Amino acid sequence: MLNHCSRLASLIALFFFCLAGCAAPVTPSMSRVPVVASILPLADFARQVGGDRVKVTTLIPPGASPHTYEPTPAQLQAVSRARVLVLNGVGLEYWADKMVSAANNPNLVVVNTADGLDIVAGDQDEPGGNPHVWLSPRNAMHQVEMVRDALVRVDPVGVETYSANADRYITELRALDQEIRDTVAAFSTRKFIAFHAAWVYFARDYGLTQAAVVERTPGQEPSPAEIADVVRMARTIQARAIFAEPQFSYKAAQVIAEESGAQVLFLDPLGQPPDYCYLDMMRYNLREMSRALK
Ligand SMILES: [Zn+2]
Repeated sequence: MLNHCSRLASLIALFFFCLAGCAAPVTPSMSRVPVVASILPLADFARQVGGDRVKVTTLIPPGASPHTYEPTPAQLQAVSRARVLVLNGVGLEYWADKMVSAANNPNLVVVNTADGLDIVAGDQDEPGGNPHVWLSPRNAMHQVEMVRDALVRVDPVGVETYSANADRYITELRALDQEIRDTVAAFSTRKFIAFHAAWVYFARDYGLTQAAVVERTPGQEPSPAEIADVVRMARTIQARAIFAEPQFSYKAAQVIAEESGAQVLFLDPLGQPPDYCYLDMMRYNLREMSRALK
């Protein structure tokens, strides 16, 4: 009995020793600001700005698309405990209003990071406009500032960290912006065929033209008449590539590519974990565009 107790005592002593001695400068995850983001690019912005003051969860799982996504009960739980919900806005998260009211979380700050941006008109089922703002790094800079301001609002003590991190990351986005301008300047053609209308902001900001899309409604296979239209356009612009995307079936893109003598290349608007990085994803996309347009 005595032996058992003294062992327990030494365990307790060890525990307290660890509390004092093992406390790394990293903020313990319990006290980090819980942040939920809809898509990986926005989660990356939140991590870049928040550093180790935040703990970020992403809602849209890898390989899924926000256009066809349904929140799970576990994710609703995460939103009910979060301090910040980082959304894109412009209708991308058409499910978010329902989710926020179901989460019933009075401490939650919801930030629509596209607020304040110039929005490009969308398709008929996108009355608010085209939502894919994050795919232009110039818009991303604004979204990073929106994330910074939301974090400062819920955690004002961290203002210096958030501001310095945002400045550093925006400098990296500026370098990416310059890299894209330099690369696009060497393209021999500026017209491309996208899988869905995800690249309209990229096209607007860097002087490219989306000549056609494979899927007008993301996740819905095009009709034979629509396929014939895209094939015609691909021949007209002498497209070297038809772009597909990893979140959707590329069957239709393949049919169009075969009919028009092009190849299928993949652009990725959302990215893949682990170690997801917006800058790397955009550099990958730029390389694939170069293969088709240079
Ligand atoms: Zn999309």
